[in-house]
Amino acid sequence: MSLESFFSPKSVAIVGASRQKSKVGYEILANMMGAGYEGKIFPVNPQADTIEGLKCYSDLQSIGQVPELVIIVVPAKIVPAIMQQCAKIGARAVIIITAGFREVGQEGRELEERIIRIARQAGIRVIGPNCLGVIAPANNLNASFGGALPATGATGYLSQSGALLAAILDIANTNGIGFSKLISIGNKADVDELDLIKALGEDRDTKVIAGYLESIADGNAFVGQAERISNNKPILLMKSGGTVAGAKAASSHTGSLAGSETAYECVFERAGIIRCNSIKEQFDYAQAFGNQPLPAGPCVAVITNAGGPGIMAADAIEREGLSFAKLTDETINKLASRLPAAANLYNPVDVLGDALAERYEFALDVVLDDPNVDTILVLLTPQAMTESVATAEAVVKVSRQKPAKPILACFLGAGKVEEGVRILREGKIPVIDCPESAVAVIKVMADYVRWRSRPKRVVKLFPVNRRKVEGIIERHQRQDIREIGETESKEILEAYGFVTPKGSIATTSEQAANIAQQLGFPVVLKIWSPDILHKSDVGGVKVGINSEQGVKDAFDLMMYRIPKKLPEANILGVLVQEMCKSGKEVILGMNRDRHFGPLMMFGMGGIMVEVLKDVSFYLAPLTAEEAKQMLINTKTYQMLKGVRGEEGVDIEAIAEGLQRLSQLVTEFPQIQEMDINPYVVGPEGTMPIAVDARMSLEK
Ligand code: ADP
Ligand code: MG
Repeated sequence: MSLESFFSPKSVAIVGASRQKSKVGYEILANMMGAGYEGKIFPVNPQADTIEGLKCYSDLQSIGQVPELVIIVVPAKIVPAIMQQCAKIGARAVIIITAGFREVGQEGRELEERIIRIARQAGIRVIGPNCLGVIAPANNLNASFGGALPATGATGYLSQSGALLAAILDIANTNGIGFSKLISIGNKADVDELDLIKALGEDRDTKVIAGYLESIADGNAFVGQAERISNNKPILLMKSGGTVAGAKAASSHTGSLAGSETAYECVFERAGIIRCNSIKEQFDYAQAFGNQPLPAGPCVAVITNAGGPGIMAADAIEREGLSFAKLTDETINKLASRLPAAANLYNPVDVLGDALAERYEFALDVVLDDPNVDTILVLLTPQAMTESVATAEAVVKVSRQKPAKPILACFLGAGKVEEGVRILREGKIPVIDCPESAVAVIKVMADYVRWRSRPKRVVKLFPVNRRKVEGIIERHQRQDIREIGETESKEILEAYGFVTPKGSIATTSEQAANIAQQLGFPVVLKIWSPDILHKSDVGGVKVGINSEQGVKDAFDLMMYRIPKKLPEANILGVLVQEMCKSGKEVILGMNRDRHFGPLMMFGMGGIMVEVLKDVSFYLAPLTAEEAKQMLINTKTYQMLKGVRGEEGVDIEAIAEGLQRLSQLVTEFPQIQEMDINPYVVGPEGTMPIAVDARMSLEK
């Protein structure tokens, strides 16, 4: 069922409508009437005959027709009975405003489950409970107690916090900012964020989807759908801090580096969702996306009546990685023909402190025509002669005549520019309060455009030996062993095309020396115990041993010292391993998020991973481009490419390793977390080596 009945119902019943002005049941009725709703309103309350001049019904049945939307504002305990009535009369859409459900504990949770059972059986869709309601300005529908009906606009807003929505409504109403729809999703017992994002995605009045979320119900579905919808409409989300549930004690490097927000960051990036860090930022972005066309590219031109703010904008453009538009000779000649001799004709175009509206209008008109300009930022400071109102009118006028490129305005000041700001807003010019924020908005728009034109995602599948991995994992699960040790982790990796160093286990120093002899020097010795996760921590790794005697000494030392340090550990011997003589150490890893699945990690490897924290994450399965991007997102990347004449390493080989790992963890959801650390990579054309690896399985 579509959610249309929530936004444009022909009739609305308010169960729990009240005469008492202090009650929510009154507020909602008053808001419905105050908004000029044109459909029928049926107040339902057995204790009243009329409310505000409307006939009041004792129950839903006695209305004699089925209201398209039912709003419930009765105490929580009575809600199930009202839901039964809804089911009986065949209602299809219900908003439950009432609080006192899952958010208050076990009893409330059970009550909520009961109402949802009734709803599911009867095919009723429910928004709430514990919500503020729904507002659809274009339909004069204010089925909420959030405040007065806002203006109509292009932003559809959904909020998991009712109180925040009330604040947003107040800010919007004070500043004349409009909405297409506002929905308070409350406990989202039935209709959830994804249902609403989908509905807003299809809604013709909505150009931008914005929202505030604390949690996401179905991670996988969310990623796929949001990515699809983002291609048509920008999604701007504020997401507040996750729970600590994700940050459980992790045994891998990757697990301990993946914070609770990492998954959300990956999901937002993958789905093209624009994350907002504050209400202000969200308003700024929403205004720009809702009222202006998208820029064709990253080149920005600035028009200003003062040097200072122009430089501030220019600095921000550089900092954000946008381009400063280079105006054509034609533009400069045209500007020269009418601007005073002292004016700066190059970007930022300075029309000077005495510029009247007419000068701004001329400059804006000329600069808009320049093919090198993608976006224009108009800056104004209220100096002695400045006409902020007439300038605002001029900007609106030019933008209507030439609507192809985005124009943003920043009128610095307060009282003196207030009226101009109002005119700009009415004229659909986004007004941002400082040059830096305005440039940040332009950056977000340019990034979104780039995201939309990204290549189609193609995930490469490598030929691998799945059977082998299945065997190892099944054996561990049968024996209820969660940790897969180094040897078998490496067997798994080999089955997926990784190369690992040669080596074998020795139980005597003689044996160790023999193995070393066969491998060839230098070799590495490592303590071998299922109970030791990080061998270096206990002096269990000795690299660069060059002689048989050296091997014997190192063996004896480890076997003497480590059991003393860790009397409980079951030490099986010492691994004698060939030594990778050159190459750089990186880490490849994966941590599986409960909601969103495998998060791949790449970073600077070795024993300093947790100290340097130079890592990047991305959602699996990875495409070649995404794997490469993971590398580029770290500082290590510069080092890997080669610095100061030093030869670089095989970047493509690392990216391929990440893709192979991504395939492994996608094909084996039993793997909970894993690291390859270090993954030793050499110059182009050499095969990287998985020197150390570990995995753990799900519980
Ligand atoms: P752990 O992580 O359990 O301490 P590793 O096997 O990762 O043990 O070894 C620790 C460090 O020793 C590695 O990060 C690497 O710098 C070095 N090392 C270990 N094995 C080799 C090897 N075969 N070749 C070169 N360096 C090695
Ligand atoms: Mg290691």
